[in-house]
This record gives sequence, C-alpha cells and structure tokens, in this order.
Amino acid sequence: MFDTIGQIEGNIGFGYDIHQLVPTRKLIIGGVEIDYHLGALAHSDGDVLIHALIDAILTGIGSLDIGSHFPDTDKKYAGIDSTILLSEVMTICNDKGYKINNVSITVILEEPKLQDYIPVMKVKLANLLKIKTSDIGIAAKTNEKLGLVGNSKAIIAFVAVSLNKTTD
Ligand code: MG
Repeated sequence: MFDTIGQIEGNIGFGYDIHQLVPTRKLIIGGVEIDYHLGALAHSDGDVLIHALIDAILTGIGSLDIGSHFPDTDKKYAGIDSTILLSEVMTICNDKGYKINNVSITVILEEPKLQDYIPVMKVKLANLLKIKTSDIGIAAKTNEKLGLVGNSKAIIAFVAVSLNKTTD
C-alpha cells in the first residue's frame, strides 16, 4: 500500500518461534497435523508456525507478545489448539483497527517434506486471517543437516506480516 507521495503506509510485524522435537507428541504446523514420528514439545499444541505468526501480528500492532497474552503457566492453555489462539489474536488485531495485507512464512525442519501439506495450511490460515490464499506464502526449508534443526531435534518458524489500519 502506498500513499499519494509513494510512501509505504501501514505496519509490519515479525515473529520467530522454536520448539524441541520429541517422541509421543503430534507434529502440528499451520493448523495441520503432519505425519511424522516426532512432535513439538510445548504447553499448547506446539504449532511453531502459528506461534511465530501470532507474535508477528501482536508486535506489528504494538501489542504484548504471545507469552504475555497466553502464559504457558496458565492451565487453560494446556494442549490448546493454536488456531484458537490465532482467532483471539485476530480479534485483538481487528479491535485495534488493523487488517492483514499479506504474510510471508518460513518453516525450517529437516524432515518430513511439507510440500503436500502447504496448500491445506494456506486455506486454513486464509480463513483465520481473512485474506486470500494468494496473500500467504510458505517456504519450507531444511537446515542442511546442520545443528539442532538439522538433526531433527528442533523446528523453527519465521513470519513477516504486513498490516493496514482500517480506522483512525
Ligand atoms: Mg511456541
């Protein structure tokens, strides 16, 4: 979005998250269950993508971060579906007068391949964010077998989001 003198209007937000991968947990990414023998260790469902997305939105509108809104010491968030948290964050976002323009997401995990899951994630996220699937980009990368992510001990996500004010 540009104003009349060509300056970019609106806000940007950026979020990051990491989770340890362990047996006996489900692997949920972008609201979609991934078929894999390891899952994300977390108080919630451990959805690394949605947690990074939530922090991108919250920081982009000048709000407190995910841990401040949804403390992992609060029993009511134990095992919670992170899409529920994202819905609550969208209410906060809309109440502050912002809407999402687009999101750019990078997920880093050594395996499994996410390509087949990405279209489903995009539909899910588009519904939650009230934008088109074409305004959501998801890159899935490996860590080239390097470090904790490269050894399937952890999963990381980065998210950038563009937001516009709908009201003054
Ligand atoms: Mg997290």
